[in-house]
Amino acid sequence: MRGKDQTQNHSDKPQPRLPGESLKVKKARARRILTALEDLYPTAVTELRASSPFELLIATVLSAQATDISVNKATPALFEKYPDPQALAQASPEEVEPYLKTIGLYRAKSKNIVLLSRKLVAEHGGLVPVDKAKLRELPGVGWKTATVVLGAAFGVPGIAVDTHLMRLASRLGFSDKKDPEKIGADLEALFPRDKWVFTHHGLILFGRYRCTARKPLCDGCPIYADCVSKGAW
Ligand code: SF4
Repeated sequence: MRGKDQTQNHSDKPQPRLPGESLKVKKARARRILTALEDLYPTAVTELRASSPFELLIATVLSAQATDISVNKATPALFEKYPDPQALAQASPEEVEPYLKTIGLYRAKSKNIVLLSRKLVAEHGGLVPVDKAKLRELPGVGWKTATVVLGAAFGVPGIAVDTHLMRLASRLGFSDKKDPEKIGADLEALFPRDKWVFTHHGLILFGRYRCTARKPLCDGCPIYADCVSKGAW
């Protein structure tokens, strides 16, 4: 830990820059960081518990502005009662709400997952479409959720950007954008395509447990040499 103010939220700080860093050099830096992440988290996957693409889709919708831990506590009972889109499609949002009361925005999410299930049954034969545009037409599913589900459930390459990736993309000098989709494009330009899904999961774990928003653990950081924000704390 460095610097004086350890309470300020640094995620809004201007993006650190390496003057004159070429794309080639930046890609090499990204590659070294990727190698470090692979050493740290060789089996990095989503921490959301799900046993099917449908469950992963529902869990990911529920995880918006909520922790994976809170979602994992709620979903076992939810999936036992509503194991597939057909079952959830027949429920009313009010019937689903008690299962989600411990999760933020539970009323809106209850409505979304019921309407989403009805659309899956009516338009996709009860299956999760392996198509980003079609996924984004589902209630409660935006670019990030669609990218996460395609990557984690079907292995479709993509770097979904959540709050951790937004912070890390800035701290590592990989993107100065604010829009998650544009940040994702910047990251995808730097990391190998066959590692995009891993990069998403690896950076989430790194942001969750090492390069945290308020107190990044810079001392002993395995990517210290390649971090353009080292010494900022
Ligand atoms: S040195 Fe490591 S923990 Fe510190 S800001 Fe950089 S990446 Fe984050």
